[in-house]
Formats: sequence, structure tokens, C-alpha cells
Amino acid sequence: MGVAVLQARLVESHLIAPEVRHFTFDVPEVEQLPYLPGQFVSFSRDFEGKRITRAYSTASAPNGNRFELCLNRVQDGIFSPWLFTMEPGHTVDMKGPLGYFTWRHPVRDSILVATGTGIAPFRGMLTAYLSGGGEQPITLVYGVRYEESLLYRGEFEELARNYPNFRFVPTLSRPDDGWTGARGHVQAHVMEIIGHRRDMDVYICGLKLMVDDVRGRLKEIGVDRKQIVSEKYD
Ligand SMILES: Cc1cc2nc3c(=O)[nH]c(=O)nc-3n(C[C@H](O)[C@H](O)[C@H](O)COP(=O)(O)OP(=O)(O)OC[C@H]3O[C@@H](n4cnc5c(N)ncnc54)[C@H](O)[C@@H]3O)c2cc1C
Repeated sequence: MGVAVLQARLVESHLIAPEVRHFTFDVPEVEQLPYLPGQFVSFSRDFEGKRITRAYSTASAPNGNRFELCLNRVQDGIFSPWLFTMEPGHTVDMKGPLGYFTWRHPVRDSILVATGTGIAPFRGMLTAYLSGGGEQPITLVYGVRYEESLLYRGEFEELARNYPNFRFVPTLSRPDDGWTGARGHVQAHVMEIIGHRRDMDVYICGLKLMVDDVRGRLKEIGVDRKQIVSEKYD
């Protein structure tokens, strides 16, 4: 039996950074949309007679029949530019949420690594874990080019203020002079944070180049691959 096709209806969307929108959808056919934070939905639609399917990570913890997404408009892309034109009330075919990019249990002392919209699954995972009383130390290393592209920055800063076991390390590869935080790519910061420890779990989400690079470096220093959980967007 295949996975049921549902209709995801746009509730609202707004720009949160240049070329990046935050979307709220609901699924009117169901009262509850059960999923694990970090899972993705699979959207399908016909474009010029051809069926196209794309995955999008949920950016929210489960909440009734609603879910949120965070996506950037890929220039010359097919699906993402169309999603940017959706108006409230419009629907799209959806399957899921699906996938295995979710907390491993028991949750261990962890580093979460994201670049760009790769932050999406961590938003739902962190909200659920921290507000659910999770006590393991968690560090989020989040890399973008420019300060204005740090998605959900205020929310992560607030989580860090409210939960002493959560640390937020935003890093900019092209900071301007006023930036006092971390600089450069996520890779270097992850290696520094992990230091001599080999007992941490590392969750990585973003484009292949970054994910493979972080994975490769962790493997080199002897981190067991069972402790590395990753999701690639391309
Ligand atoms: C499990 C999973 C979860 C995903 N979650 C998200 C998400 O939460 N938010 C999101 O924005 N995208 C996400 N993606 C990527 C998404 O599925 C599409 O690939 C993306 O929207 C581009 O589709 P398109 O049809 O517009 O462009 P296409 O015509 O398919 O692709 C153009 C090129 O864009 C590149 N690309 C793909 N994704 C991105 C990206 N995010 N940023 C920059 N370049 C990209 C690829 O190299 C691709 O070759 C996810 C992918 C997977 C597999």
C-alpha cells in the first residue's frame, strides 16, 4: 500500500530573509498530522505535463493539523519558485511527513550543524526537545554568509537564554566589520567544539558539499558513523 496523498493548504507565508520564506500549511482532511520533528513532507505537482516531486523539511513541532516550512527560492528552479507564488487557500499534493532525520534515542550530548535553510528541521526538533524538558547539552552551529540571512535568529537566541543546556553558535562566512560572533565556515567550529570527545551525536543538514565535508572530517577523527545523522538537500 502506498502512502496516502493529502492536500496541504497554505495558511500564510512571509519573507524572513532575502529569497527565503516561512510557510504555514494545514491539512483540512485530518485533525492531527502526526510526525516526528525533523521529518519532511513530499510535495508533488504537474509542471508542463510532467509530475515533479520535492521534499521539504518540517520547520515546526507537531501542532494539530498544521506544519511549517522554510524554503529558499532556487534561481531557475522548478518547484521552489512556484511555492513562492502560492496564495493563502491554495493547495498542493502532499505525502508524509516521512524520513529518519529525527532525534536518536536516548538523545545524547549533541551538535546540530546547519547551513542556510538546512536550519528548518532543527527548529522543530529543538523546540520539541527543549520545551519537552530535554536536558542533554545541545549546541547548534549555524552558518550563513551574511547576518541578514540568519534565519530564526531571535528564536534561537531566546531558546539559549531560557535553556542553559542549549548553546547557539551562529557563524558568518562574509561578516561585516560590526559582527562580533563566530566567523568562517561551520566545519571549523564543529571540530573545535567536539575537541577530543567521541561520545557526542552530530546531526547535519544542508547542501551535499557541506554535509559530506563535515561527515568526512568527523570520520577522520574517529567519530563512529552511527553517531552522525544527516540530511542532504541536493
Ligand atoms: C529531505 C529533503 C528535505 C529538504 N528540505 C528543504 C527545506 O526545508 N527547504 C528548502 O529550501 N529546500 C529543501 N530541500 C530541497 C528541495 O527539495 C528542492 O530541491 C529545492 O526546493 C529546489 O527545487 P526546485 O524544483 O526549485 O529546483 P530544481 O530545478 O530541482 O533544482 C535546482 C538546483 O538547486 C539546488 N538546490 C536544491 N535545494 C537547494 C536549496 N535549498 N538551496 C539552494 N540550492 C538548492 C540543487 O543543486 C538543484 O540542482 C530538501 C530536500 C530534501 C531531499
